[in-house]
Amino acid sequence: KLELVDLRKQFNAKVVPVKNVSLSVGSGEFLTLLGPSGCGKSTILRLIAGLEQPTSGQVLINGKDVSRLSPGDRNIAMVFQSYALYPHMTVRENIASGLKLRKTPSGEIQTRIQDVTDFLGLHDLMDRKPGQLSGGQRQRVAVARTLVRRPDVFLLDEPLSNLDALLREHVRAELKQLFGTQNTPVVYVTHDQTEAMTLSTRVAVLNNGYLQQLDAPERIYMEPANRFVAGFIGSPQ
Ligand code: ATP
Ligand code: MG
Repeated sequence: KLELVDLRKQFNAKVVPVKNVSLSVGSGEFLTLLGPSGCGKSTILRLIAGLEQPTSGQVLINGKDVSRLSPGDRNIAMVFQSYALYPHMTVRENIASGLKLRKTPSGEIQTRIQDVTDFLGLHDLMDRKPGQLSGGQRQRVAVARTLVRRPDVFLLDEPLSNLDALLREHVRAELKQLFGTQNTPVVYVTHDQTEAMTLSTRVAVLNNGYLQQLDAPERIYMEPANRFVAGFIGSPQ
């Protein structure tokens, strides 16, 4: 379980991208942070991952306050918008990289890589470098690298935004299946309503650093909490 308690991030007097956000994401939940560009979505993920320190408030994982721990001391895996694969490493090495950093025994690494390779159908790609992959394949490798870690929380920051429309739909269906069959909490970031509505168990709508509404997708759509949510979602009037 992931909990954000009164989480706030202030970069300077003018820029406060996260304004006292509280929410929790339980086992088996897929929560999407939805909102316009600059509303603070990526900053929230970076606070959860430990890539930024909160100005105030806490990040709890399974009841433990991890707010002051470095990223390496939190068992959290993140897929970045750019995928952030290592260009000089093969797919196999990329997938193993997070486990090696954590000193996972090599037999255990082999078993986990075999599992994820079977699961995502990556067999033919394992010895290639990221430069020799399509966008969708890179995306799959980035997801594989987070899955092998078996983290306490999965974070995905607009993982489909680099894909063309057709591929996006395909990979979206794949993600839905993938994360629908496991119990680790997922926090997913997008500014695409269709993605949010089809993938999520709940959606958190953000604007200007404030949490506007947190509800099941159909409730957000049918019973928007305010005019911003209604306008952003395009709810029936
Ligand atoms: P997008 O959909 O465009 O990715 P976002 O919702 O992810 O947007 P953030 O990246 O969280 O938005 O940024 C929120 C605000 O914080 C923006 O105004 C951004 O310019 C600002 N910001 C982000 N990182 C920093 C930083 N390191 N220093 C100062 N301001 C920052
Ligand atoms: Mg962002």
